[in-house]
Amino acid sequence: MATEELFREDACLRECEAQVLAVDERGIQLDRTVFYPLGGGQAGDSGVLRLADGREIAIADTRKGTQPGEIVHVPAPGADVSALQPGQRVSARIDWQRRHRHMRFHTATHLLCALVPHPVDGCSITADYARLDFHMTDPLDKQQLTEGLARLVAEAHPVSHRWISEAELDAKPELVRSMSVQPPRGQGRVRVLDIEGVDLQPCGGTHVTNTADIGAVVVTKIEKKSAKTRRVVLGFADAPGS
Ligand SMILES: [Zn+2]
Repeated sequence: MATEELFREDACLRECEAQVLAVDERGIQLDRTVFYPLGGGQAGDSGVLRLADGREIAIADTRKGTQPGEIVHVPAPGADVSALQPGQRVSARIDWQRRHRHMRFHTATHLLCALVPHPVDGCSITADYARLDFHMTDPLDKQQLTEGLARLVAEAHPVSHRWISEAELDAKPELVRSMSVQPPRGQGRVRVLDIEGVDLQPCGGTHVTNTADIGAVVVTKIEKKSAKTRRVVLGFADAPGS
């Protein structure tokens, strides 16, 4: 059962009303949602589903289902879902603090792509760090990358998305920066993320609307993961312990 993906058009939505489609051992499916499911390296959202009587079900994670378009809200361990029935109305609210960190880091990884012109062969975006693996052999400079990120954040570039046809994407294969994650095919259209004047690539994730909203990010580590892979790890400069 396909779920309407409200987060694709507006990543700033924190809450929505929805109807329960199904409840099974995997979790809860809704007709529409603001919860982003794990994908493209970005962690799935957590939050709560609130029932009409005020009861709340904690959601620990969000995953794609087995069928295309399925999104499964995974209840936290011990959460009681016995009151949930298909057809019921719920209000779905994400943990915004956590998601906003995903959005800031995710947008920062696009800036990193602009600073390091090599293919990406791995990516992970969490609330505490983001890492990007580049297929390359040259060394990278931590300080230089941190300064490059700070400059692009300070320049306050607008961030927006649009949809292009698969034919348009096929005509511009250079848009695809990632070796490990190919844009989803078969829907006839592909979502591209545009950071004005900086980076343009297919991406289904959630991002802030201006690079200024990323705030202070720093390169915390650069690792030589293999002979042909350089791993760049990002942290927030304002986060405790980073
Ligand atoms: Zn993205």
